[in-house]
Amino acid sequence: MRHPRPRIVVSRCLGFEHCRYNGDIISSDVVNALSGHVEYVPVCAEVEIGLGVPRNPVRLVRSDGETHMVQRDTLRDVTKLMESFSETFVASVGDIDGCILKGRSPSCGLRDAKAYGGIESPFVLEKTSGLFARTLLDAHPTLAMEDELRLKNIRIREHFLTKVFMHARYREMAKAHTLKDLIAFHTQNKYLFMAYNQNELREMGRVVANQHLYDFDELLDIYRVHLDTMFASPPRPGSYINVMEHMFGYFSRELSARERAHFLSIVKEYREGLVPLSALRALIVTWALRFEDDYVLEQTVIEPYPNLFIDPQELYRQRDYWKE
Ligand code: SF4
Repeated sequence: MRHPRPRIVVSRCLGFEHCRYNGDIISSDVVNALSGHVEYVPVCAEVEIGLGVPRNPVRLVRSDGETHMVQRDTLRDVTKLMESFSETFVASVGDIDGCILKGRSPSCGLRDAKAYGGIESPFVLEKTSGLFARTLLDAHPTLAMEDELRLKNIRIREHFLTKVFMHARYREMAKAHTLKDLIAFHTQNKYLFMAYNQNELREMGRVVANQHLYDFDELLDIYRVHLDTMFASPPRPGSYINVMEHMFGYFSRELSARERAHFLSIVKEYREGLVPLSALRALIVTWALRFEDDYVLEQTVIEPYPNLFIDPQELYRQRDYWKE
């Protein structure tokens, strides 16, 4: 399957440069695995505002109901500098399909940056977004954004990658700007949409069917709102079974009793967390190839993003994810 090449904003310390406050660099498996498949836009907000490497670390401090970014040793308040850089970056970065940011950072943390009661206070008042991350979240509230720590979780990673590649696919389609491309997009994603949210799938089908009521840009805008709603949260693992059974229905009459029984036994094993979804996907692909069913082969649910290396030990450790 051909995949688009998404643009992803990434914290530069995640394998691109030794730019942490102490000169460190961090290796992230998912950032490394994706490198041949995406266009990265690496950025280090703290270096960009001139703090240098190595540097005195900054921390978030709550005061007068506001969050300040302060350099601990010098007591320098760099809040305005950071906000100004972040806004300029967001305004100039162009189209992006997702962000992978360093967790727990006062700049890049998406939800787990510590905000303290004072510059020397040991007390954490809340966990919040870093200043750079906050600007990205405000500018792109529906975009796929995760930190490298959460992406170690298989379910979170699968949803993130599916959303990122879907966003890039949508951008390609919207750029082509033809009804034919929109219909093809809707058709190829039908079963993936079904796994995510059947109500939204129906609504989107209605929007496409009533295309004569809108001018094309309006049509795209309405469709896009439904798409964002659909991908706001991951699907239940069980909903993929429903979709795989639908697709199995295309071939079941042509299959032998033993092949049908084999499919049902793999469904059972998937339910029990013994095999991943890819085992079911592989069966569907095999039969779609045998019966030359291009409609099924073009469905994005078969391969929503490029196959990446996943450590089999990790699959085993997180096997409860696959259970319903
Ligand atoms: S977390 Fe963000 S600001 Fe901190 S070193 Fe990494 S890229 Fe730079």
